Amino acid sequence: MRALVVGGGPAGTTAAIALARAGIEALVVEHEETDRPVGIGLALQNSPLRALHALGLLDAVVDRGYRHDAVNICAPDGTVVHRIVTEPLVPGTPSFVAISRVALAGILGEALAATAGAQIRYGTSVTALRDRGDAVEADLTDGSTEVVDLVVGADGLHSTVRGMVLPEAPAPTPAPQVIWRASAPRPADVDRYLLYDLGPQGRVGIVPIADDELYLWFLQPDDGAARLPAELRLPALRARLAPFGGVVADVAALLRDDVDQRSLAALLVPQPWHRGRTVLIGDAAHTTTPHIAYGVGIAIEDSVVLAEELARGGSVEDALQAFTRRRFDRCRLVVETSLQLSAWEVDPPEDPTLHHQLSGRALGALSQPF
Ligand SMILES: Cc1cc2nc3c(=O)[nH]c(=O)nc-3n(C[C@H](O)[C@H](O)[C@H](O)COP(=O)(O)OP(=O)(O)OC[C@H]3O[C@@H](n4cnc5c(N)ncnc54)[C@H](O)[C@@H]3O)c2cc1C
Repeated sequence: MRALVVGGGPAGTTAAIALARAGIEALVVEHEETDRPVGIGLALQNSPLRALHALGLLDAVVDRGYRHDAVNICAPDGTVVHRIVTEPLVPGTPSFVAISRVALAGILGEALAATAGAQIRYGTSVTALRDRGDAVEADLTDGSTEVVDLVVGADGLHSTVRGMVLPEAPAPTPAPQVIWRASAPRPADVDRYLLYDLGPQGRVGIVPIADDELYLWFLQPDDGAARLPAELRLPALRARLAPFGGVVADVAALLRDDVDQRSLAALLVPQPWHRGRTVLIGDAAHTTTPHIAYGVGIAIEDSVVLAEELARGGSVEDALQAFTRRRFDRCRLVVETSLQLSAWEVDPPEDPTLHHQLSGRALGALSQPF
């Protein structure tokens, strides 16, 4: 079997690796000219680490990332008031790891290059898909046509493949918050994930991602204001961080001028996620806000499950149906939980413990086998 994977992000690269390991040749087309991960760092929870283990990639991620055992929720003065703890699912490894996006893309790119039967073509996209029933003809922007058994749309929130095969899918829903992110060198005493909460004024996360690096995120209600020009973002972010205590002022002083400021959106494409021989995975099928840090996680899990279902040897159509059946409720849990947490951060419920309860329940459910 041969597959065409559109999009070379975390979903597309892990899909190619998983498919090739299952004996299905995979060609990834990525429209960027090189590997260009967006953002600074990300967290991988226990279940995505289990999925990376299944792909033989966990050791590299642990080596190049930063091991965590909890998210420490701090009062404005820095006192730890609550710890979000999950259990490791692979014995002897951490329960979650934070890592630079560049480092993760490097690990996935190296693994793809080393996997027989998987390859990536940069600067290339797809212009048309014709499903003949027994195969799909895919016209590419380099003028070639690939005839494949399966097309995997892993081209993110604004997926072109989704528009081609499931044009009736809903548009993304805006979340009520804006996120700011910036990097800094890690001071030795900032050695754990710290989260400071000032209620509707905003929340700050400080996340070590390597021995010498951390990233900071700041979530605030979306007041509809336009994004600031790049040169104004660092002073504006520092001003917003001024009311926070603990180590926030120390880290704010170290932030680099690479501040990203963006609105958040969510999307859950209704079932099924395939039409004929073309299937959507990752953000193309389900985009989540980052509130439980699971977007890349469910993308990697998708890849493992897709390869498992195709490896059963039944028809492609049956495999794709089984794929969505196994994935839908789990991805819905991530998307809906994250959106609810976002809504509560802007408009807090009377019982402030509901937030921790909901994220704890979701992380517990997601620790179950998938
Ligand atoms: C602020 C923020 C923080 C986040 N933090 C976390 C976190 O801590 N943990 C976590 O697990 N997740 C996190 N996420 C979510 C995570 O970034 C996404 O879920 C993840 O990147 C999805 O991977 P993907 O491969 O499906 O899509 P993408 O990462 O969007 O990759 C899509 C790829 O397809 C390419 N592409 C697009 N269109 C085409 C086309 N037509 N042809 C060819 N190629 C194309 C793109 O260039 C890109 O390389 C966060 C997201 C945001 C916004």
